[in-house]
Amino acid sequence: MRDIVVIGGGISGLSAAYYIRKLAAGSGTEVNVTLLEEGGRTGGKIRTDFDGGFLVEGGPDSVMASRGRFMELCEELGIWGRVIAPSAQNGGTFIFLDGALKKIPSGMTLMLPTSIGSLAVSDIISYKGKARSAMEVLVPRRTDDLDESVASFVRRRFGAEVYERMAEPIISGIHSGNPEITSTKCTFPLLRKMEAEHRSIIIGMLKSRKGGKKGGAGFVSFDGGMACLVAALEAAVGKPAIRTNSRACRVSVDSGRDGLGRGYHIGMDDGTSIHADAVVFATPAFVTSSLLEGIDRGLASLLAGIPYNTIATVSLAYREDSMPGGAQGAGFLVPRISGMRLAAATWSSSKWAGRAPEGHYLIRCYFSGAYQDGRVAMDNDALVRAAEEDLRTVMGVTARPVLAKVYIWRNGMPHYTLGHDERVASIAAAAAAHGGIFVIGAWKGGAGVPSCISGAYEESRLVVDYISGLEVRK
Ligand SMILES: Cc1cc2nc3c(=O)[nH]c(=O)nc-3n(C[C@H](O)[C@H](O)[C@H](O)COP(=O)(O)OP(=O)(O)OC[C@H]3O[C@@H](n4cnc5c(N)ncnc54)[C@H](O)[C@@H]3O)c2cc1C
Repeated sequence: MRDIVVIGGGISGLSAAYYIRKLAAGSGTEVNVTLLEEGGRTGGKIRTDFDGGFLVEGGPDSVMASRGRFMELCEELGIWGRVIAPSAQNGGTFIFLDGALKKIPSGMTLMLPTSIGSLAVSDIISYKGKARSAMEVLVPRRTDDLDESVASFVRRRFGAEVYERMAEPIISGIHSGNPEITSTKCTFPLLRKMEAEHRSIIIGMLKSRKGGKKGGAGFVSFDGGMACLVAALEAAVGKPAIRTNSRACRVSVDSGRDGLGRGYHIGMDDGTSIHADAVVFATPAFVTSSLLEGIDRGLASLLAGIPYNTIATVSLAYREDSMPGGAQGAGFLVPRISGMRLAAATWSSSKWAGRAPEGHYLIRCYFSGAYQDGRVAMDNDALVRAAEEDLRTVMGVTARPVLAKVYIWRNGMPHYTLGHDERVASIAAAAAAHGGIFVIGAWKGGAGVPSCISGAYEESRLVVDYISGLEVRK
């Protein structure tokens, strides 16, 4: 029986614990998996709270269904039936520009006008901006392999107006980082691929539509919120294997109980230590860095080089009669040029069923730390004030909310800056040089929940190969 310890009980760590057990069982390898989580609950950034009949998501509220292994995992866990699509009556998404909410036309891909027809009738950008974006089909492709910032990529292909008025809020929102230094290679690899293959993004999109390739199923959630996924994974991993309130402080090399291969000691904050034949670090990069400091300074310093930004969500609930304009749609984005503090808001109760009791609206405001320009202090009172004031400006809401819930994720989002792929490759190579050390997490192969699941799956295969190898050597 080999001992494998997974440090970190977010979606990456839970998925790793699940896949390691599953893959090991499939290959006839006996493993004992322990998951260590410093907090009192698992799920990490995934946090669903229930308060006064409202279902409030503090972290992710939806998942791109077609990405990675998300659908397979839900099927395996028996929770696909609990997956819900956005409500049919939801009336589109808006963008706050020039003091008004403007409906985003259909045919946008990541807020890029890949259908010129629908953009033509929209008032989001000027005639000059529309003409410039239509010229995208004529812009020559870049032939070098250098990384480019997403801001530069969009401006180069579609023009500055499309960047500032359409693309910027979604890029800085999804990745919570300044698009001027965000890597296109690592955050929007599909755009690079389309440019390389078709020269133009518009042409590439048209061809993929003609070829019957769909953009994939859209965003989905669960009837009981994102916590459904965490609960199902916890049940599959088994409660005895999960140790909450267990903070790992340091990891050191242990010669191994039987002298075969290297083992590791994991020092806990209560002074105890745990032996492991293999350790999976599913913590944020800066935590993994400090845990590995005593084993490999170079690896630790590479991990410490991945920047993180602070982000926050503020969910406010209102009585229906205090919002005469209503909130019919999915929500709205706020470009930086609008000068607001809010980056986006989701009209949660209109977008998803079961988020608010009858007669109420639930609005989730998103504050991005992308620019770190201090537009809003990241503390509870300041965030609620900013959310209320900005909702008054955008939607004319003057009533006080009946519920306010604030979630501040300090250093909560890894920022994939230029050269991120090279940093990750160096980290992976350095980690692989130590038998039995495996590193995963939102910083590595995509910050979205499905990417974390896929990253955990791929690394779990390596873990099981490594453990099986130890058995062969024995
Ligand atoms: C506000 C917000 C909104 C988001 N929205 C979406 C969305 O809509 N869709 C989407 O796909 N993604 C979204 N994301 C991104 C996604 O939620 C995260 O990238 C993902 O959940 C990260 O999972 P993880 O397991 O890698 O890390 P984490 O969730 O950070 O988990 C790491 C875990 O390690 C634990 N830990 C840390 N140090 C130690 C230690 N020393 N010992 C033991 N345990 C330790 C932590 O307590 C934590 O539980 C959002 C993120 C945020 C913050």
